[in-house]
Amino acid sequence: MTLEIKWLGHSWFRITVDGVNLDFDPLSKKYVKKLGVGEELGPSQKSDFILVSHSHGDHWDLETIRSLSGPQTVIVAPRKPANRIGEDVRVIEAGHKLTFDKLSLLAIPAYNLRKIYHRRGKGVGYLVTIGGKVIYHAGDTDFIPEMNTLGKVDVALLPIGGRFTMDVNDAANAAKAISPRLVIPMHNRDTDPKELARLLQGFQNIRVEPMVPGQVIELKDN
Ligand SMILES: [Zn+2]
Repeated sequence: MTLEIKWLGHSWFRITVDGVNLDFDPLSKKYVKKLGVGEELGPSQKSDFILVSHSHGDHWDLETIRSLSGPQTVIVAPRKPANRIGEDVRVIEAGHKLTFDKLSLLAIPAYNLRKIYHRRGKGVGYLVTIGGKVIYHAGDTDFIPEMNTLGKVDVALLPIGGRFTMDVNDAANAAKAISPRLVIPMHNRDTDPKELARLLQGFQNIRVEPMVPGQVIELKDN
């Protein structure tokens, strides 16, 4: 099955496979504007799954979540944002697994090693199996030891911006540890996403796709 990956800027990705839409960390209109992405990029189709990594305002927005949600939408988030999003949210902690008809997920820890912004136990990354493929959305995190034992990963979505998360050099090392088929840089702040491609050039068979907001790429079988 072909997996469609759309980057809407920062850590917001929409994955579409087999008619199922999954949104990671949907942004507010304010952020979408700030990042220079047109509002027309907001998905018109409803989301089947919305996965929120942590409570910071650049990773979820109530208005956007409401606009993406229909009666069937499953929303998953750690405790703090879940409390603010509403009653129907599935609360998750690192180590928890959830299984649905079209998707299963495992929450992975996401935290800073020597910075104060993201403490261990608050936020998560997601290891999602959908359409026969495994996608890892790292959330806001440094290159943490847990990334060495994720198992098979097809697509890794990794922050590269530094300051609040790992920088592009650590992201390259994380990519080598995870060894996915495809890596897409996110949460880049002032860092050029192409820098990650440069650092990983020629390393095994890892494909790096530096995207621009609004771009869609496809991952076909093999
Ligand atoms: Zn962030």
